[in-house]
Amino acid sequence: MMENRILDISSPISASLPVWPGDPALEIVAEMKIADGASANVSRMTMSAHSGTHIDAPLHFFDSGYATDEISLEKLIGEALVIQMDERIPLITEECLQNLKLQVWPRRILFKTVNSTYQNWSRQPFRKDFCALSAGAARFLAEKNVILVGIDYLSIAPFDEPDAVHQILLSAGIVILEGLDLGEISQGLYKLICLPLKIVGIEGAPARAILMDL
Ligand SMILES: [Zn+2]
Repeated sequence: MMENRILDISSPISASLPVWPGDPALEIVAEMKIADGASANVSRMTMSAHSGTHIDAPLHFFDSGYATDEISLEKLIGEALVIQMDERIPLITEECLQNLKLQVWPRRILFKTVNSTYQNWSRQPFRKDFCALSAGAARFLAEKNVILVGIDYLSIAPFDEPDAVHQILLSAGIVILEGLDLGEISQGLYKLICLPLKIVGIEGAPARAILMDL
């Protein structure tokens, strides 16, 4: 095995990134161009805070919750287990998690699901039928004292029922990491480094996330 690989698990931010229905479209505009006589190239970006690879903070579902800039870096950096779920599973339930029969639940879990088989999902139109966690699975992870949970599509919760899963995870202080690109990643334990932009007082923030071999 190659050692000390740095594996980028962040989705490329571009205008072809799928956007959650109703969220602002992602737009990158060249405001100044050297080609037009300016002395520098300067772009302006318009995007939802939940674009591509990003984290959710409790403020996303609770007005009294803390924001992304208040999440300690200790939660965002450290050992993480990538779990390859059976690709026939459309919803990760508590039973699915029990069937994994893990002796120990690492504190950071990244789920690689059927979503990773949707070729370059981060450049395709939005799809509603992505694999996500059930509320029971969210409760299970909270009981296992997980501090970060990630998934390979834009939401940790099913499209039709987003509230309960987010509320359970966020009220337990669990960082939600969404929009991961795990296509090239195999199951195993890694070091996760997830660095969300330090935007003050906001409920979600785009992040660069990488895995490193332990
Ligand atoms: Zn989000």
